[in-house]
Amino acid sequence: MVEINQFGKEGDFSVFNEISKLGHEQVVYCHDEPTGLKAIIAIHNTVLGPALGGTRMWNYASDQEALIDVLRLSRGMTFKAAISGLNLGGGKAVIIGDAQKMKTEAFLRRFGRFVESLGGRYITAEDVNMKTRDMEYMAMESRYVTGLPQTLGGGGDPSPVTAYGTYLGMKASAKKVYGDDSLEGKKIAVQGVGQVGSYLVEHLRKENAEVFITDIFEDKLKEVAKKFGAKVVGQDDIFDLDMDIYAPCALGATVNDNTIERLKCKIIAGAANNQLADENVHGKKLIEKGIVYAPDFLINAGGLINVYAEFLGNYSSERAYQQAEKIYDTCLDILNKSEKESMPTQQAAMALAQKRIDDMGKVKLSF
Ligand code: NAD
Repeated sequence: MVEINQFGKEGDFSVFNEISKLGHEQVVYCHDEPTGLKAIIAIHNTVLGPALGGTRMWNYASDQEALIDVLRLSRGMTFKAAISGLNLGGGKAVIIGDAQKMKTEAFLRRFGRFVESLGGRYITAEDVNMKTRDMEYMAMESRYVTGLPQTLGGGGDPSPVTAYGTYLGMKASAKKVYGDDSLEGKKIAVQGVGQVGSYLVEHLRKENAEVFITDIFEDKLKEVAKKFGAKVVGQDDIFDLDMDIYAPCALGATVNDNTIERLKCKIIAGAANNQLADENVHGKKLIEKGIVYAPDFLINAGGLINVYAEFLGNYSSERAYQQAEKIYDTCLDILNKSEKESMPTQQAAMALAQKRIDDMGKVKLSF
């Protein structure tokens, strides 16, 4: 008799198939009955250093969905750290459940103990539904927690550094497309004016760009529009705007079959993770349409750069910003490589990241 498990019929889903498809080193399932904690920590690659990546708490529909998410996200962290020149590997954790109801001191400290049990192979930080206060609880049980509040010697909110790196990636893209990196007078549409989006709008308005914004929260929209002098557009209308640059700063997968048809911009450069709905398909479609795409994991690495600066000790915001400045040159190199080799920019960026991992792997061969 074939047993039905939660993934469907036996044999439909294999954890090890999923792990080997993306090449992970280690996946740890964490369970604690008294607090109701269920978490998965995925360590993708530690050739460059310990695997750093945030902990996301989400009410996943199934364990399978949680596993797929943590595997995909942790792999992304490997490439992000590698291309940013950091001595870090890629990892990520997901906690399954309702963040509004389940997060207690005991719950978070228990998770911290699981992080500690990995002996530094995995370092955690904030992600969706995790705040600096939650990090403080985890840090009571583990040395491998970063993203702590500034009052505790941490780097605080990483969003301003993320926005700065995204802004520089956008300028590098403008240099490539227009021969000049000035954004003055450029029509730029920012989707999502949350933590990162609103700091980005501030940079753009300082440079006298014409900025259009959209969000699902009316209040936030009005506030950002008033504060920086941006124009509000509808959530779906943003894709049909007469614009030079589209900056996705809300969700993933907004660059897809439907939107590529509609987008009239010359550049896509934003902070959202996983902007291409299918990285094997949509990178090529953008080339065909003559749109330059600044790889998301490269230009949104400012947040990772900031938490890494904190982890190294003696946090200095200045050092984090200096490191983030390298995004400009790297982005320009990638755009040139992509053009020379007729290769989608995302692929060119991943190839460069992989090369660094391979090269450094060899450096470490002898003691
Ligand atoms: P956030 O939650 O503060 O902001 C996201 C904003 O997008 C919110 O205001 C939300 O209302 C809005 N939004 C959601 N759905 C929308 C829709 N359909 N149309 C328009 N707006 C919509 O998040 P954040 O920290 O600013 O991060 C933004 C993106 O950047 C995310 O994809 C995140 O993963 C990525 N990112 C953030 C950081 C960081 O340092 N915060 C670092 C790297 C990547």
